[in-house]
Amino acid sequence: MDQQITRRGVMKAFLVAGATGAMGLVSTTAQAAPRVPAAKVYDAIILGAGTAGLVAAVEAYDQGIKPVVLEKMDLPAGNSIYALGSVNACGTRMQRQEGVTDSKDDLFSDMMKIAVGQADPALTRTYVEHIGEDVDWLQDTIGVKFHKLEKLPYPLLSRIHRVEGGSITGGGKLIRLLLAACTKRNIPILYNTKAVELMTDKNMAVTGVRALTEEGLVDFKSRGGVVIATGGFSANREMLCSYMGGATSRLALRGSPYVTGENISLTKPIFAKLVHLDQFHCGPIVSATHANPADALNCGYGIIVDLRGKRIIDEVNT
Ligand SMILES: Cc1cc2nc3c(=O)[nH]c(=O)nc-3n(C[C@H](O)[C@H](O)[C@H](O)COP(=O)(O)OP(=O)(O)OC[C@H]3O[C@@H](n4cnc5c(N)ncnc54)[C@H](O)[C@@H]3O)c2cc1C
Repeated sequence: MDQQITRRGVMKAFLVAGATGAMGLVSTTAQAAPRVPAAKVYDAIILGAGTAGLVAAVEAYDQGIKPVVLEKMDLPAGNSIYALGSVNACGTRMQRQEGVTDSKDDLFSDMMKIAVGQADPALTRTYVEHIGEDVDWLQDTIGVKFHKLEKLPYPLLSRIHRVEGGSITGGGKLIRLLLAACTKRNIPILYNTKAVELMTDKNMAVTGVRALTEEGLVDFKSRGGVVIATGGFSANREMLCSYMGGATSRLALRGSPYVTGENISLTKPIFAKLVHLDQFHCGPIVSATHANPADALNCGYGIIVDLRGKRIIDEVNT
């Protein structure tokens, strides 16, 4: 396992990787006829104002990098604002304070078991190695408050750290706190700014982003790199159909209608390697209302039946 692939490590790696290409683009563009308004140059460009993008922005800033966040909608409109805000973690201060016996290796093997061996081992290992300190960071640096620890339905361990949302979802509250952290740091978040193309130099190193704004197309250049945090593709029926089969394209959509797979469509022209596209998370949902019966199921007071009323699954068996 590459110990460097931490959230902060990924940030650094992205930025360093892009650095060499940035100089090339500046000289190339200077000679070309401008198609769009004068380029705006930043240390780093982050696409998407969801949890991933805003965390990356705060981390970048705290490491001395001045980022800009480009968001296609007029507010953070991805899945983060719909999320309950439950973080499955071990090794947190909260677990230690409550005397919970848990280990990173146990969390790793439980995650691999739940994913029936299909999870990416390196990413899963990275997650379990760092999620404890990341939850502490959310408390200390972002000011997130968590409910008392809850037990997972499987295994019965106190790993659920659920963000206190008050009158809104935990995920919505998390986004509000991350936005406040960006405001405190004067990190610009440009709304109604949709990334439509990654710009590259002659070696195809990513050097910036072409975005559709209210003023038309604008080129944003990055001295460092571009972080793509535009969410998934659950709202893109065509992608669902091509990557996961026609049946999945008819599933009820739980969450944002704006997560339309730009992480994939932006990177395809530069031949990015795409992996695990056939793997996805789904769960029981009341399709008419989009209500999530997870709490009823997890506490052991609900069962899942098919249209004939026949119980079809052991609800708490992983
Ligand atoms: C109902 C529900 C409940 C959930 N509950 C939990 C939970 O309790 N715990 C958990 O861990 N996970 C949960 N999840 C999953 C979790 O919400 C997502 O995995 C997570 O929010 C994804 O965050 P993100 O920052 O990657 O993307 P998102 O939050 O989806 O943000 C992506 C952002 O990118 C923007 N964007 C898209 N394309 C472009 C573009 N071209 N240019 C600029 N901006 C762009 C979007 O508008 C959006 O604001 C839940 C999901 C749903 C739907």
